[in-house]
Amino acid sequence: RLETRDLVRRFDGTAVVDHVSLSLEPGNVTCLLGPSGCGKSTTLRMIAGVEMQDSGEIYVDGNLVCDTVFRVPPERRSIGLMFQDFALFPHLSVGENVAFGLKGAGSERKARARALLDRVGLVHYIDEYPHQLSGGEQQRVALARALAPRPRIMLMDEPFSGLDNRLRDGIRDETLDVLKEEGSSVLLVTHEPEEAMRMADEIALMRGGRIVQQGAPYNIYNAPADKEAVAFFSDIN
Ligand code: ATP
Ligand code: MG
Repeated sequence: RLETRDLVRRFDGTAVVDHVSLSLEPGNVTCLLGPSGCGKSTTLRMIAGVEMQDSGEIYVDGNLVCDTVFRVPPERRSIGLMFQDFALFPHLSVGENVAFGLKGAGSERKARARALLDRVGLVHYIDEYPHQLSGGEQQRVALARALAPRPRIMLMDEPFSGLDNRLRDGIRDETLDVLKEEGSSVLLVTHEPEEAMRMADEIALMRGGRIVQQGAPYNIYNAPADKEAVAFFSDIN
């Protein structure tokens, strides 16, 4: 379970993340949804630990992992990451890419990598190299890599935006299946209402650095908090 309390990040005196308090239920997908520049990625980067907040706290399972003086390093937060530029290591095979972040004996790491590649339907590529795969296949490898250490919390920043529509639907569904099976809590960043409606158990609507509304997709879609939220959702057919 992940919780943030009043996270604030300022650049040049302006709060681009302004008292963001989020709570992720275990096993749920929460979508952080909002227009470009509203502070989504900055929020995610603070939770991941690759950027420091100016104030506020982050808790995992009730334990403080970060405030302005105390800070658990990113690799010890049980938090997995998948970004839009999912950069696989070009000089490592597909199997080695997936096993990269794992600890333990080589045979165990390999078995785990194999199981995950099997899950995303790519086990036959285990000894190939990333450049031999299509973009969509690379994305599935990146998903397997992010899941390999069994993160209890998975942060995803627009992970499907580089894909064409045809591939995207399949990979979205597959991603949801894998994450649900692993029981991970997911915080998924997107600027597309349609993606949030499709994937989220819970939507946190963000604008100008603030969470303006939070709840089940159906409720937010049917009762947007204000005129801007109505306009934002009006793109969906
Ligand atoms: P997008 O959907 O386009 O990815 P976003 O919601 O992820 O947008 P952020 O990347 O979090 O937005 O950026 C929020 C605001 O903070 C933007 O106005 C951006 O210009 C500003 N910002 C982000 N990082 C920095 C930085 N290192 N220095 C100065 N300003 C920054
Ligand atoms: Mg962003």
